[in-house]
Amino acid sequence: MQLYKDQQLKIYNSLTGEKEVFKTINEGHVGMYVCGPTVYSNVHLGNVRTFMSFDVIFRYLKHLGYKVRYVRNITDAGHLENDADVGEDKITKKARLEQIEPMEVVQRYTVDFHNILNTLNFLPPSIEPTATGHIIEQIELISTIIDNGFGYEVNGSVYFDVHKFNETNDYGKLSKRKLEDLIHNTRELDGQSDKKNPQDFALWKKAEPQHIMRWPSPWGDGFPGWHLECTAMSTKYLGETFDIHGGGMDLKFPHHECEIAQNEAAIGKSPVNYWMHANMLEMNGQRMSKSTGNIINPNELLSGNNDKMSKAYSPSVIRFFMAQSSYRSVLDLTDDGLKASEKGYNRLMEAMALISSLKASGSSSININEWLQKCYDAMNDDFNTPVLIANLFEGAKFINQVKEGSATLTVEDLEILKNSLNTFAFDILGLLKDAEAQSGGDKLAGTVDVLIKLRQEARANKDFALSDQIRDELASIGIVLKDGKDGTTFTVN
Ligand code: AMP
Ligand code: ZN
Repeated sequence: MQLYKDQQLKIYNSLTGEKEVFKTINEGHVGMYVCGPTVYSNVHLGNVRTFMSFDVIFRYLKHLGYKVRYVRNITDAGHLENDADVGEDKITKKARLEQIEPMEVVQRYTVDFHNILNTLNFLPPSIEPTATGHIIEQIELISTIIDNGFGYEVNGSVYFDVHKFNETNDYGKLSKRKLEDLIHNTRELDGQSDKKNPQDFALWKKAEPQHIMRWPSPWGDGFPGWHLECTAMSTKYLGETFDIHGGGMDLKFPHHECEIAQNEAAIGKSPVNYWMHANMLEMNGQRMSKSTGNIINPNELLSGNNDKMSKAYSPSVIRFFMAQSSYRSVLDLTDDGLKASEKGYNRLMEAMALISSLKASGSSSININEWLQKCYDAMNDDFNTPVLIANLFEGAKFINQVKEGSATLTVEDLEILKNSLNTFAFDILGLLKDAEAQSGGDKLAGTVDVLIKLRQEARANKDFALSDQIRDELASIGIVLKDGKDGTTFTVN
């Protein structure tokens, strides 16, 4: 029996604005596409947040027993500096500035991206296609869109006719925009553009003579528009309509709106059943973004080599910090927030390290299955990781209660508690057993045991001042000793 048959997962669908029961197109299979990075610079932590949200989603879907095909692309051509189809190609510009080949830029930052994601314990996607590897598919798609009357060619470029499309379809349904408002709010064309209307977007751009990244096409040498690659690659690997499409909130418009339009224009079908958007990572209350320079790179945070944070943070602490807020909420990256997450993560790991030393009882005073279902309920509620973490802390509390003797668990329940904590913390949230936190738990237990023995000796010698001092000083740092008939135990508050 697959777990997904027992657990009713609900996903917030950006298209409908509602949490909906997740039903896959093919029983037991999930097709998920997430827009990947444009590899013209190092990824920053904002990018990482979006990809991490989908890493946890991928992990949970797999845990539920789905066979997931997760496609995350690499944008290695076609992404212009400006959403209005003007400006230089981001990769070409970087190549020009650094006087290297565009493919050297792509290689350098793709390697950086993979290294960072590896360090942060991401699972690799099932397929990682590139835009340049799918030029033929994109040209075919453009031809179909032209044949269906939704694209037009001008001077070697091809544009999508948004106004024509909107006569029969609903352009703006994802981002809740109306074409009339867009018309009202866009500046008139300055005469430089070949577009019929400013709202139209490029499917193919003519390459000027100096443009290095160029491919032959029925419309002359050029390169594909940015939105097109995702339509070509998602439908190629996942089908004309697939289950989940994700990306950062900033991609809703125009990128994802244009993807819907391209799909409907070419295939006559809406591409995606569940649109998911991760909210933005901020720093100092401002969105993390390359263009404003308000960024911190993962390596700077991992090494502590930056002027924004007081210390270095481990991959697990970064993951824990991000999981402590819902993927749909804005998250502000602060030193205090990271420090608090580090404490929380260590507390959880320390409790988990104690579990194998717990003594089992004949009966359980805690309903472990009820607790376990609460963990699932959190994740089933649109991947609510902060609520899951609150439940994991409850699990840690059970461990401390059993340790101090105020609660009991049977061997079987102890096993469920241990396996479930491992599954949720390591397999689903992707935390690592940091050597420090792991051995920290063992070392803490060993150290407190030494102090308990010294206290016993002090008492035996009637040195009550010393025995009280040991107890009080431990209590002042949150380690509470409890004397019972079987000896002294401790809890960490
Ligand atoms: P890009 O390489 O600019 O195409 O961005 C890659 C991914 O990172 C996209 O899904 C963006 O939506 C996402 N992204 C960019 N900035 C942020 C941010 N500050 N917080 C969260 N996600 C972001
Ligand atoms: Zn995309």
